[in-house]
Amino acid sequence: MSDEANPFESLQSQIDEAANYLDVDGDVIERLKHPERVLETNLTIERDDGDLERFTAFRSQFNGDRGPYKGGIRYHPQVSRDEVKALSGWMTYKTAIVDIPLGGGKGGIALDPDDYSEAELERLTRSFAKELRPLIGEDRDVPAPDVNTGQREMNWIKDTYESLENTTEPGVITGKALDSGGSEGRVEATGRSTVLAAREAFDYLDKDLEGATVAVQGYGNAGWIAAKLIDEMGATVVAASDSSGGIYNSDGFDPVAAKDHKNETGSVVGYEESEEEITNDDVLTLDVDLLIPAALENAIDADLAEDVTADVISEAANGPLTPAADEVLEEKDVFVIPDILANAGGVTVSYFEWVQNRQRFYWSEERVNKELETIIVDAFDALVETYEEHDLENPRTAAYVVAIQRVANAFEEAGSWP
Ligand code: NAD
Repeated sequence: MSDEANPFESLQSQIDEAANYLDVDGDVIERLKHPERVLETNLTIERDDGDLERFTAFRSQFNGDRGPYKGGIRYHPQVSRDEVKALSGWMTYKTAIVDIPLGGGKGGIALDPDDYSEAELERLTRSFAKELRPLIGEDRDVPAPDVNTGQREMNWIKDTYESLENTTEPGVITGKALDSGGSEGRVEATGRSTVLAAREAFDYLDKDLEGATVAVQGYGNAGWIAAKLIDEMGATVVAASDSSGGIYNSDGFDPVAAKDHKNETGSVVGYEESEEEITNDDVLTLDVDLLIPAALENAIDADLAEDVTADVISEAANGPLTPAADEVLEEKDVFVIPDILANAGGVTVSYFEWVQNRQRFYWSEERVNKELETIIVDAFDALVETYEEHDLENPRTAAYVVAIQRVANAFEEAGSWP
């Protein structure tokens, strides 16, 4: 992984690039490059041994012109103010490209959750929820899971909020367990949109998905589901990696069995169907038809991009390519389906969860998947239309042109406030 790009600067350069093709005032663009507000808070909790420990936590509310702020909460040592600001901006343009009535937000706590017990994590999460309480709510800001958080943390946040507010408001947060107001299909949604977008791209490029080879970097929630679903669509998953390394089999392997191995041992490395163990960088540069980066941002920098040989990249992770890598891949004619569309399944089904919570009426998994497919296909069509209309150099710029225009329209239509 390279640290050559500050994620917030990456976001801003993507917006500047798209602004060249937009009929939007420069002052409005400037507004759309910065978060409306960022909460930075210090949380101090008691460790199991009685000692106190302080943690830095953030919540960035980037833009609410199209609806309540929406975005996950991440637990990771690399969490920083700039990372959270960037991720909240990507959420704004993600909800806009898939045209759901939500804005963009993101939060995080800088820690390695592996170093803490479940009781400590619960105290920390509830302490963060208490700080977030004035800012969140189903019509204000609706958090969700992200790296190293899941249903457990969402349930704690919901319970803390509802207890303090003395109400029931399941729509204050999404990504909850089913019995706590979660949605069918939410766990699979990010991987599902990643492969639906890839399917549309293959179709657009007149490429056959049946028998296409696939490499997946990062075998967590997004990556492993993408591997499973693309395999079900007839493609062949030949490589996968996690933070411990990568596996490879030229004939393909069973993605579900690889996940079982990871569940048992903590890593895909050592999986018996693997012909050879390869490095994380090898996984990213393999000669495959489709590459799915599904770990963290900046996984591919310009140097590594020179060695990338995939024809299509579907970005399950947020910001996996640095802007410099983007330029290299554009020259090499790699079709990159941008994160804000490819991984928008998570936020789209979060939106369905929020709708169901508000209606107190729950949908079948079949309905969730069908509605998700319609949204991703429509978003891909809007991207391609703009890509061709402006003869754009890459699909990412097309996605930002569509998304920024929608946010700018909402801002301008609201008129001015004295
Ligand atoms: P996760 O924690 O479940 O999985 C992350 C995986 O990446 C793990 O397998 C980890 O071992 C692996 N990893 C970490 N560093 C790596 C490296 N250097 N090389 C290879 N693998 C590495 O997280 P997730 O929920 O799957 O999220 C992954 C990415 O997808 C993030 O960028 C996240 O923001 C994005 N995303 C997730 C969702 C969602 O709903 N889960 C939605 C939208 C976007």
